[in-house]
Amino acid sequence: MKVMKMLVIALFSLSLVVTPAAAEVPGVDHSMKRGATQGIVAASHPLAAEAGRKVLAEGGNAVDAAAAIQLSLNVVEPMMSGIGGGGFMMIYEKKKDKITMLDSREMAPADVTPKLFLDSKGKVIPFSKRHITGKAVGVPGTLKGVETALKDYGTMDLSDIIKPAITQAEQGIKVNWSMAQYIDENVDKLERYQTAGSVFVPNGKPLKEGDKLVQPDLAKTLKLIQKEGSDALYKGEIGKALVKEVQKRDGSMTMDDLKNYVVKEREPVKTTYRGYDVVSAAPPSSGGLTVQQILKLMEGYDVEKMGSNTPQYLQHLTEAMHLAFADRAAYMADEDFYEVPKKGLLDEDYIKERRKLINPNKATPNVKEGDPWKYEGKENPNKATVKEENPIGQTTHFSVVDKWGNMVSYTTTIEQVFGSGIMVPDYGFMLNNEMTDFDATPGGVNQVEPKKRPRSSMSPTMLLKDGKPFMAIGSPGGPTIIASVAETIMNVIDHKMPIQKAILTPRIYSGGYPTVRWEPGFSQDTILEMMAKGHGFEEKPEHIGNVQAVIYDYETGKMYGGADNTRQGTVLGVDAIKYVSKQPKPIKEEKKGEFTVEVNRAVYPFTDKQVKLIDGKPYVQSDRLLLGLGVIDSSDLKLYKPNHHSYLSVIKVAKSLGYKVKWDEEKKVVSLEKDPGEDDAGDDEDGDVITN
Ligand code: GLU
Repeated sequence: MKVMKMLVIALFSLSLVVTPAAAEVPGVDHSMKRGATQGIVAASHPLAAEAGRKVLAEGGNAVDAAAAIQLSLNVVEPMMSGIGGGGFMMIYEKKKDKITMLDSREMAPADVTPKLFLDSKGKVIPFSKRHITGKAVGVPGTLKGVETALKDYGTMDLSDIIKPAITQAEQGIKVNWSMAQYIDENVDKLERYQTAGSVFVPNGKPLKEGDKLVQPDLAKTLKLIQKEGSDALYKGEIGKALVKEVQKRDGSMTMDDLKNYVVKEREPVKTTYRGYDVVSAAPPSSGGLTVQQILKLMEGYDVEKMGSNTPQYLQHLTEAMHLAFADRAAYMADEDFYEVPKKGLLDEDYIKERRKLINPNKATPNVKEGDPWKYEGKENPNKATVKEENPIGQTTHFSVVDKWGNMVSYTTTIEQVFGSGIMVPDYGFMLNNEMTDFDATPGGVNQVEPKKRPRSSMSPTMLLKDGKPFMAIGSPGGPTIIASVAETIMNVIDHKMPIQKAILTPRIYSGGYPTVRWEPGFSQDTILEMMAKGHGFEEKPEHIGNVQAVIYDYETGKMYGGADNTRQGTVLGVDAIKYVSKQPKPIKEEKKGEFTVEVNRAVYPFTDKQVKLIDGKPYVQSDRLLLGLGVIDSSDLKLYKPNHHSYLSVIKVAKSLGYKVKWDEEKKVVSLEKDPGEDDAGDDEDGDVITN
């Protein structure tokens, strides 16, 4: 078999030699014909994108446009972000050639303790319960963030910028397929406190695509802000109503908490990837450092040669993610409370040390955090023990370039879809549940503490080339944000995809061994081969993230953009380019067979035609079984010319490969167990199994 593998490899490398190297700027999208020159936006809703485009067309800069987009999103995508939430805005100022980060992340109220999410018996309150009370609501930062951005980096007034949002709330908008879907999935949450229910589920009927959504309370709120600025919320009547509602729902937030809210301007985290500067969100977000760690780990390999979404690429990527996520959980939190080893985590020698742990062939089960502090010449000053994953929520990301070359990359959130489900009565906006981004268990660097900001995964990122702005990118999706951003960047830089294709190419996410989440579009061959390496792919695919990016072609000055299709992503250029993504087809369910095969408790994706009970015993199509158990690679399939009529006994083959085998005849489940590191199935001695 080794001979066959070598033959395949030789043929493969030969084909690479004759492929000419692409010389042009990566990410440029020729399908968009001529690029824009006067500015471009990419956002998750056409009306919000239009609000931003209009500002650019009227001479506003990227920050002005970003402010208009955020305020509009509060109206047209109210389940994802708004003045009841927080976010991170990255701003690139062309004139000063400087990138800064405005941190408008929610802050914990003053009257909280690390035990906030423990019940009277000291047990952690489950996420489903803890995220829908007033305790989950952090002091919101978005409105102050937008106001600060306009004041310090914009050219227009909030009172003008807010106008499209007021019109959209007052006159109403058409519910699009994306909003209809999110409402439908959250009816219980919306009806729990009725206020939100009466807006989105009027008379018990969830709004559907095409229905009109008028939000008079929200329009009133936005008009108050137009008149009084953010004081209307942080010191005035909106704030009073907000605090009253949070307290009514068991939270402790006070007017003082609102008055004491501060937007922080922070230095972003920086590294390089294959000659590009990669600049991203600093703590309290873990996003930037983790994206950068994944990229740095992958920089040690010829990712281009591995090919997009090949098992070899996915193997290295998954292992890199596990290493980076282990460090994330151990070391990243609000820097104002605990020092974060930002230098050590990205130190070339540290990365080399960590890269050595990547097994190119098999999943590594026990991935632990490293010691980045050593590379800063220090000992870990924090006695952190708790490592919790953030829940996967939703959010929104948008990117802007203006005609001067300024860029904004802004990820903004109320955490889960519709946040805590609490709407401020009479003021029409949703409140976040960002406090649940803290660890529920006390003891770690990300425990709940007064006035602290919960650790985020948001990763608004910018890439520059030779000092010239090149890309602004980001995504929603809790910790999956990190995977979406890193993979899309590699799709552009390494796999040479135009930005739109880079965004739509299916992604994976794995925050730790063994579970891998995957998007529709991966072939069964690839999944089986990855599972043979010891990874546990989830049973069904799911969409991951919602990337919006812009590309600035530094050679020609033209602008392009890409928008994801899991919402109505839209790219609008001032003078060229109009792109609205189409709704993806529903995910198709594969028909299940007569029995299930589980390896190390992960269900294998064999279809009904591929499995057969013969004399009451489980058999699987030969090539599928051999691929799934790691005896052959998907690249071998061409040589084996799979015969779909030949079946092999799962029990016999698995036993011969050293698996512990259990066949539950009643439940019709055959379970195989083996430590993925135990041996290397697929070596020569296993070869004769194939011909049996
Ligand atoms: N709360 C999340 C975070 O800050 C963002 C919401 C999401 O997309 O999950 O990481």
